[in-house]
Amino acid sequence: MTAVQIKRSQDTVKPYRGRFAPSPSGYLHFGSLITALASFLDARKNNGTWLVRIEDIDPPREKAGASKVILNTLEAYGLEWDEDILYQSTQSELYRDKLATLFNNNQSYYCRCTRAQIKAIGGTYLGYCKSKNHNAELAAIRLINNNAVSNYQDLIQGQVNCSAEFSNEDFIIFRKDGLFAYQLAVVIDDVFQGITDVIRGCDLLESTVRQLSLFQILNKATPRFGHIPLAVTTQGYKLSKQNNAPAINLKQPQMSLIKALVFLGQQPPKELSACSTKDIILWATQHWQRDLIPKQTEISIE
Ligand SMILES: [Zn+2]
Repeated sequence: MTAVQIKRSQDTVKPYRGRFAPSPSGYLHFGSLITALASFLDARKNNGTWLVRIEDIDPPREKAGASKVILNTLEAYGLEWDEDILYQSTQSELYRDKLATLFNNNQSYYCRCTRAQIKAIGGTYLGYCKSKNHNAELAAIRLINNNAVSNYQDLIQGQVNCSAEFSNEDFIIFRKDGLFAYQLAVVIDDVFQGITDVIRGCDLLESTVRQLSLFQILNKATPRFGHIPLAVTTQGYKLSKQNNAPAINLKQPQMSLIKALVFLGQQPPKELSACSTKDIILWATQHWQRDLIPKQTEISIE
């Protein structure tokens, strides 16, 4: 593996810009609250800007009205964002431009392989279509992942190493069903919004290497990444919109906020539970210590 010189935002003295980027596929549950809270507090503690981006590029998975409920929930929890909300659905032209540039620079190719075909050869895509010169018909677009990044230093979890198989894969940047792939949109928007620090859940711990590869290929500075533990059930299931994790209570944010702070290792004093949402957020901002977040990829919350 060749060592890749990663260009990082911290090489310059750019002011901190963080973001929370929910997809409107459901309401906020406890798992998304801890992510929102951690990224918010980390930004505030660093005198940074905190942005909210709605990742609404997968209409079949969207729940009607969810964006509005998510934003109302953030407000009710005292998590006030700076600047306008960015909706990914308004970014299509930019994504299309970048896709065209990558394609014209011979940095991507059309692929017609099905999931079943890839599974049959062991689950890792080995570049079968790279030399086939397929046209766009019934095809996804894959990135030619030269100089893939396979490891990075995480702000919370420390050194993260991914398998060569996963890191080197020519991953999909445009889906066969005509939708932009998550990896493409998220990187373009982190660049677009000048994000310097990404605090999010460990479900994206591995996938970060793909994003780092894409930042390299686009020749853009990479943000710092920090991944907080996932909240899981005692059976080890991740709380997610897909498995119908309960939405957090909009009327009484205090209890959920205290529970989230405890989850994040922040040791809130007992008397804080009697305080207003605003005071809890104020205490949490002043006392936020990223170093106290448990270095675990998941924590059971039941
Ligand atoms: Zn293929």
